[in-house]
Amino acid sequence: MKDAPRYDRVLLKISGEALMGDLAYGLDADMVDRIATDVRAVRDLGVEVCLVIGGGNIFRGLSEAARGMERASADYMGMLATVINSLALQNALERQGVQTRVQSAIPMSTVAEPYIRRRAIRHMEKGRVVIFGAGTGNPFFTTDTAAALRASEMGCRALLKGTKVDGVYSADPVTDSDAKRYSKLTYRQVLSEDLNVMDHAAISLARENRIPILVFSIYQPGAFAEVLTGKGRSTMITGED
Ligand code: UDP
Repeated sequence: MKDAPRYDRVLLKISGEALMGDLAYGLDADMVDRIATDVRAVRDLGVEVCLVIGGGNIFRGLSEAARGMERASADYMGMLATVINSLALQNALERQGVQTRVQSAIPMSTVAEPYIRRRAIRHMEKGRVVIFGAGTGNPFFTTDTAAALRASEMGCRALLKGTKVDGVYSADPVTDSDAKRYSKLTYRQVLSEDLNVMDHAAISLARENRIPILVFSIYQPGAFAEVLTGKGRSTMITGED
């Protein structure tokens, strides 16, 4: 008998870098498959799942080309990179028998549906995993903000941020052995202490819409489901009690 998940609809944000595994940039097929397995496990618990994926893994490879470019144009390249990642994850999920839809904030009707809020909700109600590509569709934003925006629009009960480490630390735990791990934080603390979790726009949106943020390690196989069933390690960010 599996433990009951704490939330019935969630959004998972993963950075593009998570998809590159040990590579310097691009996509690592094994890592993409592993993440798909974790998403399927959560979907199999009966949780409605949607995803926002970053583009850092591809965009970093392009950064030399973007040097000196107008910011808005470079940002559009970044958004297109997220669509590539979305299609890769879609493919990996479908190979595992999970029904999916990609919706892009930048219309490209031959490869993805356009973003239509009510349609996305309907897909999730039918058990499909919806992957939101192209961020918010606007330059000068990040995929973290896109994640908070879509989680708000979809009425998600929680926003999960899969990172390299198992929560939020006071300093980078990779370089600083004194870094302290928080099990709980408030939105206010994250903003005032400028903790490196998500950008301020994303945190503010989550706060306004009272969506808890759970930060956990996407590198830990199975952690996504464990966090949702209350067994895994994560940092939970909420409002004041
Ligand atoms: N981006 C954007 N608007 C958005 C989302 C993303 O302009 O709404 C661009 C921006 O250039 C960003 C890039 O896409 O740097 C990739 O997204 P992000 O850096 O958030 O990806 P991650 O670091 O999570 O892989």
